[in-house]
Amino acid sequence: MKHRPSEISRVDTDVLVLGGGLAGYRAAVAAREKGTSVTMAYFARGASPYIIGCNSPIGHADDRDTPKMFFDDMVRGGYGLNDRRLVRVMSTGAVDAQRELSAIGVEFPTENNRITQRHLSGNTYPRSLFIPEGTGKIVLEHLSAHATEIGVQTLAGLKVIDFLNDGGDVVGALLWDRRDAKFLAITARSVVLAMGGIGRIYSDSTYPADIGSDSYALALRHGARLIDMEFVQFEPVVTVWPEACRGMEMPTAMLGDGAHLVNAHGERFMFRYNPGHGEKQIEKAKMALCVQTEIDEGRGLPDDTVIFDTTVLPAARLESYKTHVRRLRNAGVDPLKTPPRVRPASHSQMGGVLIDDTGWTGVPGLFAGGESAGGVHGASRLAGNGCADTLVFGALAGRGAAEGMLTPRSRNWDALIGASLKAVHASGNRTTQMGLPELKQSVRETMLRSAGLWRREESLLAGRKDLREIAHLAEELKTDETEQSIEACELGHMLTTAQIIVEAALMRTESRGAHQRRDYPKQDDTHWLKHIGFRTDGKNGFMREDIPIQ
Ligand SMILES: Cc1cc2nc3c(=O)[nH]c(=O)nc-3n(C[C@H](O)[C@H](O)[C@H](O)COP(=O)(O)OP(=O)(O)OC[C@H]3O[C@@H](n4cnc5c(N)ncnc54)[C@H](O)[C@@H]3O)c2cc1C
Repeated sequence: MKHRPSEISRVDTDVLVLGGGLAGYRAAVAAREKGTSVTMAYFARGASPYIIGCNSPIGHADDRDTPKMFFDDMVRGGYGLNDRRLVRVMSTGAVDAQRELSAIGVEFPTENNRITQRHLSGNTYPRSLFIPEGTGKIVLEHLSAHATEIGVQTLAGLKVIDFLNDGGDVVGALLWDRRDAKFLAITARSVVLAMGGIGRIYSDSTYPADIGSDSYALALRHGARLIDMEFVQFEPVVTVWPEACRGMEMPTAMLGDGAHLVNAHGERFMFRYNPGHGEKQIEKAKMALCVQTEIDEGRGLPDDTVIFDTTVLPAARLESYKTHVRRLRNAGVDPLKTPPRVRPASHSQMGGVLIDDTGWTGVPGLFAGGESAGGVHGASRLAGNGCADTLVFGALAGRGAAEGMLTPRSRNWDALIGASLKAVHASGNRTTQMGLPELKQSVRETMLRSAGLWRREESLLAGRKDLREIAHLAEELKTDETEQSIEACELGHMLTTAQIIVEAALMRTESRGAHQRRDYPKQDDTHWLKHIGFRTDGKNGFMREDIPIQ
């Protein structure tokens, strides 16, 4: 069914924030505090409610911790690839973030009048803030209540389909409301992109279903540059069985408490990789590589998993992991008697939209923050830095958007909306054997086979070829209904993002952080201490561009 631009409802705002996770809310509050009108639009709550730990070098747990120490940890943990301008912003901004949250009523647990902080992997000192009832969930609740209080308009349950673009200026977005099958156009003087990471483009993933890698594909199409996309972080021990808990990360802290990782031969294999320490004192990213090696070399169970042996833990200790124990029992498995089975799953994206230290993407009117933006984490993200990133760069992008609004002028809105609708109305004319769900699933399987934890040239080249074939089938797909066309756009965004990850992984002929090549096992600073960037070629494709580290 065709939709006419003139019949589409319009909302006008100064700043439009796309995304309702922590970065989106923090951006909206920051922009509103600058006195602008702010509208937020998003589908659901993204990955943010699942956050457990959030880094802030306030030095309460150990007074040797400082923003400078945090800076050094980030650059070391990111294998030197981090954008130093952004690391500087993050190292001090994460301290401000704790103060800002406390000021709006977020209560962090304390001991002797000092905020309790946990020690997460890759951090020199314990600097992770946490709230036992769920850090991400509670912080989101406070930020959303505060946003409402100060007059941010919120539109939930909407899917962003495209940006409105006037001669290179991003001036709003076109959204779809599945509930009443209607489009909505939001016009704005600046837009903050905070739509999260890559979503489920790998067949094993911890991402919630509302993240669809749209942010990267849309930003690219509208003129922004993407960097460091080859660096995809995998969580090491994600539940595969019991099926009802699939995608649930088992806490690595439980391994620290004494749970074992065991292969199909009954061996505690981590001692082979990490002599003397086994499952303890090892970065999550390295542990993920070890688990994957066991599986790849045939020592996993028939369903390509290893055993996360919870049964060896003292009962009281195990019961303290309330959420995990409850979820396993609800799935019919008592972890005191039967262990779950796990393998690594894709978890977060280090790269993203290139921004400067005001959150600007270089495209007039377009700012980005949180997981949509890239550069601060380099080749690997410290545990607890996903959350700090959302708060610091959400605020930065919100302020940047309020200060960098485009000058108002008359625009032909119907024409701009019409241009965005074209993508939705475009349809092939063949019914292929594979429908949209199957094509999406083949992208996911291709990505896991070709650009998973361990990569090599042959698998990446095969992945490139398979993705091209899927893209060809997707172009031909006949879509009669608007809902199907929207799904097809989403598939297109997945394909663009997947193709960029594969291209970047092929080009980077070295191993660094989250990018590990079997055929190039060494880090090569002489040739690769730089970002691999991509920008649009103006014809629905993309081209490579090396970007020096700032
Ligand atoms: C299970 C899990 C646990 C994690 N635990 C931690 C942790 O303990 N500590 C840590 O530091 N990091 C953690 N991370 C990483 C962290 O959650 C993310 O980096 C962070 O939440 C990203 O926040 P964001 O606001 O940028 O995006 P998100 O919170 O993912 O929000 C994205 C928003 O954009 C919306 N959106 C996306 N596409 C569209 C579209 N097309 N139209 C409309 N809306 C759209 C979504 O609905 C959502 O509102 C975890 C991640 C996962 C998946």
